[in-house]
Amino acid sequence: MFKRIKTWRQNRLIKNSAITQEKWQSVISVIPILKCLNSVEQQKLIELATLFIYKKNIVGAQGLSISLEMSQTIALQACLPILNLGFAWYDGWYTVVVYPSTFKPERELIDEAGVVHKMKTHLSGEAWQNGPVILAWSEVELAGEIDGDNLVIHEFAHKLDMRSGSANGFPPLPKAMSKQDWNDSFTNAYDDLQKKIHNEEETCIDRYAATEPAEFFAVISEVFFEQPAIIHRCYPQVYQNLADFYQQNTLERMVGCE
Ligand SMILES: [Zn+2]
Repeated sequence: MFKRIKTWRQNRLIKNSAITQEKWQSVISVIPILKCLNSVEQQKLIELATLFIYKKNIVGAQGLSISLEMSQTIALQACLPILNLGFAWYDGWYTVVVYPSTFKPERELIDEAGVVHKMKTHLSGEAWQNGPVILAWSEVELAGEIDGDNLVIHEFAHKLDMRSGSANGFPPLPKAMSKQDWNDSFTNAYDDLQKKIHNEEETCIDRYAATEPAEFFAVISEVFFEQPAIIHRCYPQVYQNLADFYQQNTLERMVGCE
């Protein structure tokens, strides 16, 4: 019953949205990975992005003002991973903070010896457990290129991963999927990447993926949506698991689009 009321409310929200089809299409037309969706998928994505704009608070930091087009750019890419999973995967948090460019949070970390370290590194994005997603607009804007890098997909993949309790590269899987198979294929690929880095060999995906399993899942998700042929070639079992998890055959979709 609740589900039906929710669906009815969501349908009404989508129907009453002031954002026209033309406005959606003009944003989609400049984001290559979205242009590759068929018209049914694009419509579904627009509906999810409409809900995203309504339900999430997209706020600018350091004086950045957020235009409707910026909100649409973020919402459309954020909703691509949940195209067939549903909006409920993004329940439980409300804010997207957008910095004009890379930001430098100052944090104090205490190490095992009790020594306090001041951390200051440039970041392009962050995803907080049960909290906001933080994005640097200068990096979001780069989505116009198909190069395997996609900040929005990266941070929102962390959000999906966190639904299992913490970000560990193991999002909650549908019942039909084998946890063992996921674990084996991801562990093999992660080990292979680390070995290649150690041997100074060329790697299929960004070396940042080797920092921890959560980053591996986020980075490989970016490539899965932008350049799936690379994942399919280097780590076919991981490709299959990602296709089953996201319920999207990106390889087929991107043929002729890359
Ligand atoms: Zn990350």
